Amino acid sequence: MLEVRDLDVYYGDARALSGIALEVKEGEVVTLVGSNGAGKTTTLRAISGLLPVARGEIIFEGEPITGQPGHTRAELGMNLVPEGRELWPSLTVLENLELGGYAKSARKHRDETLAYVFDLFPRLAERTKQLAGTMSGGEQQMVAIARALMSRPRLLMFDEPSLGLAPVVVTQVFEVIRRLSGEGLTILLVEQNLKKALEVADRGYVVETGSITLQGPAKELLANEGIRAAYLGI
Ligand code: ATP
Repeated sequence: MLEVRDLDVYYGDARALSGIALEVKEGEVVTLVGSNGAGKTTTLRAISGLLPVARGEIIFEGEPITGQPGHTRAELGMNLVPEGRELWPSLTVLENLELGGYAKSARKHRDETLAYVFDLFPRLAERTKQLAGTMSGGEQQMVAIARALMSRPRLLMFDEPSLGLAPVVVTQVFEVIRRLSGEGLTILLVEQNLKKALEVADRGYVVETGSITLQGPAKELLANEGIRAAYLGI
């Protein structure tokens, strides 16, 4: 479904990504793991069209999209749940969701998609009129996921969905990811919580200083001694 070839991305003169290559097949959960500043967020932003690419190619459902603007990519069926959620805090929950489903392709299915996200997150159905900025961190993460789902993506990317959340809420977030995957959504997940990410994923890539240094089935990465020593302190 998604193929990234040989990607280089710069911030000014500083190279943040160097030759990133990865693939996400339809129905898979793929995770990018690695330490702070390794380049995971940059990779997702480049795939989403939020950052220009200096070299390389991004192919989505067989179509080269490397130069396409972000909104076109959303129309084509990919969306990002950004790090820090980036909700509109002074708009209501419902308004945030409506804006997520604004694209023409999504608008005609508005009622159906809204019913789906309310089924997934019953709490949001009870809180449609609450200002998003007044919700708890966990609830805001649910709004952010629901807002992205309103665009009816086929590929959903998550950037650090567990960041800053209480352990019980982290568990809920991973349950949602598991459920969405079970319903056939293709997922690319960036996480610092390497253990949880590899437990939910089919395959993983380890990113270090802007390059992929290791890849494989999630189970193998979880059992890899180098990874356990470097990231899990085992
Ligand atoms: P984190 O989990 O901390 O977000 P990450 O793996 O997602 O880490 P990135 O945020 O992609 O890492 O950062 C990759 C590199 O690019 C880092 O060296 C970072 O300092 C740099 N970088 C990120 N954003 C910018 C920016 N807006 N301007 C300049 N450099 C940046």
